[in-house]
Amino acid sequence: MSTLELRSVEKSFDHTKVIHGVNLEVKQGEFVVFVGPSGCGKSTLLRMIAGLDEPSAGDLLIEGQRVNDIGAADRGCAMVFQSYALYPHMTVYDNMAFGLENARVPRPEIERKVQEAATLLQLAPLLQRKPTQLSGGQRQRVAIGRAIVRNPKIFLFDEPLSNLDAELRVSMRGELRELHQRLSATMIYVTHDQVEAMTMADKIVVLRAGRIEQVGTPQALYDTPDNVFVAGFIGSPR
Ligand code: ADP
Ligand code: MG
Repeated sequence: MSTLELRSVEKSFDHTKVIHGVNLEVKQGEFVVFVGPSGCGKSTLLRMIAGLDEPSAGDLLIEGQRVNDIGAADRGCAMVFQSYALYPHMTVYDNMAFGLENARVPRPEIERKVQEAATLLQLAPLLQRKPTQLSGGQRQRVAIGRAIVRNPKIFLFDEPLSNLDAELRVSMRGELRELHQRLSATMIYVTHDQVEAMTMADKIVVLRAGRIEQVGTPQALYDTPDNVFVAGFIGSPR
């Protein structure tokens, strides 16, 4: 059984189709990267998986169950955005605890989960700070921490590093890969950056204009691109 399955998923906005019959399977523990140029539909796909947007046609399955009619809060996906979306007036601790408090998780369990995530992300000494007192990388870690405490079936990342400077971006790529290993989590990571895709992915999904062009390991896409678009985009010499 796949952790996630998309069957002939389509999406239209105002009669314009932006996602065309996407079929995809993601296995437990995979780090899958959706890559493609701006406007190709990466965020739209991620939002549909998260339950923030509805497919116009097709089925979404999580752990074998059809989730089209299940709301975002009950799908078991946690999304991390480029813009962090932290609450500016709350401490780091409260930012991470907020979702759990809303879900009426008992306080000792919240404390344990936040502490665990903070330790994992090297945020433990910063729990009483406000987001404005953090660096960009630290803010992004808080956003990731907020996802971790929810113990999601699937982590969804929408270009989470694109606001960071080049050096930090490279180190955060490594941190995220390490986190993936330690949590044995299923992660879907969206980027328009081929280098990011090639260095991070177990499996790359190349998108173009709302369609999947090719799915494969970084090595397979590099060695045997299916077409000129994939070859050009991935930067293969062919
Ligand atoms: P990406 O994340 O790959 O840059 P998006 O998924 O954001 O691409 O967008 C895919 C296409 O869908 C684009 O043409 C975009 O303009 C369109 N689109 C996305 N969201 C909406 C919306 N809420 N209303 C209308 N069109 C949208
Ligand atoms: Mg996008």
